[in-house]
Amino acid sequence: MEITSPIKEFIRKIQLLQLSKFFSRSTLLLYAKSSMVFCIKRMGEKDMGMKCNKILFAKVLICMIALAGTTAMIVFQLHSDIQECSNTTDSGFPIDERPMIVIRIDDIQDCAWRDAQIALIKYNLAMNLPISLAVIPKSFGEDTELVELVSAAITQGSEITAHGWKHERLTDYDVGEQTRLLRLARERLRHVLGVEVSVMVPPYFAFNNDTLLAMEKTGYTTLSSEIHIVNAGLVDEDIISVPATVQFANYENGTWELKSLLSLVIEIVHSVRRYGYAVIVTHPQEFWQGNEFDPARFEVYKTLIRQLSANCSFTVIETLREELVSQGRFIGNEIYYEP
Ligand SMILES: [Zn+2]
Repeated sequence: MEITSPIKEFIRKIQLLQLSKFFSRSTLLLYAKSSMVFCIKRMGEKDMGMKCNKILFAKVLICMIALAGTTAMIVFQLHSDIQECSNTTDSGFPIDERPMIVIRIDDIQDCAWRDAQIALIKYNLAMNLPISLAVIPKSFGEDTELVELVSAAITQGSEITAHGWKHERLTDYDVGEQTRLLRLARERLRHVLGVEVSVMVPPYFAFNNDTLLAMEKTGYTTLSSEIHIVNAGLVDEDIISVPATVQFANYENGTWELKSLLSLVIEIVHSVRRYGYAVIVTHPQEFWQGNEFDPARFEVYKTLIRQLSANCSFTVIETLREELVSQGRFIGNEIYYEP
């Protein structure tokens, strides 16, 4: 199936962006290398004689061949990525419509990776985009600036979800205790932000049948975990699952590895084609390097959001759920689309 605009346009822009970044970097590298080689060569002529010049010439030649090889490999890789994207058939979702995208930011809390939290919320406010904020209720409410920013985001259409009570693994507790924790979470968020929370984002993506029962008892209607843990659709009599389908970064060996812009776009396109939407999950700590906020990492997020906002429709989990239900796309435990 041929990819149609605006997604096609979106991929093309990202492809060009990646290529231009690569070429500007390699041009600089090439320039630096040639200058260095020229200087060494002149020194060689004066002090070391012709034999040394031949060795230098061979080295330059090897450098040039290696650089040309790398360029060819990268161009080939980009081309295959785009081809792979174009060839995906999945469920045949009509991506000529503006795809629905949710940005879910987990681990919102007082005084932790603070600069990253503030930067994320401020950037989305400036872009006038709604976001879904998964707040750790027990650790939230004392940081006045953060509370004010979160309140401003709510006014602008953003959503608050409960991220457990104190970021505990809910499955460690029985149904009675899970019910108590989830009730405390709703009460705390009502008290601090004046909102009635209906979406629960389980910490560590972990939940069980007791969690669903506890959610029903305490007034939650939507579970948002992760697509590899649970599909989208009805998971219990009254609970619908709208999981994250794309992770902004990979967590490996205790550190967050950011994905490239192109990988993210490809995952988003796959998600839209397969499920009819993409929920992208990120955490403030992904924009942290050493002991501080890393603007270079944040730049990847900003570029992605800019590109998405030109081609997609941003929403929040609760609205996405209503939209998917009204379109009749939930059947059993699978999201379903009939062209
Ligand atoms: Zn978390």
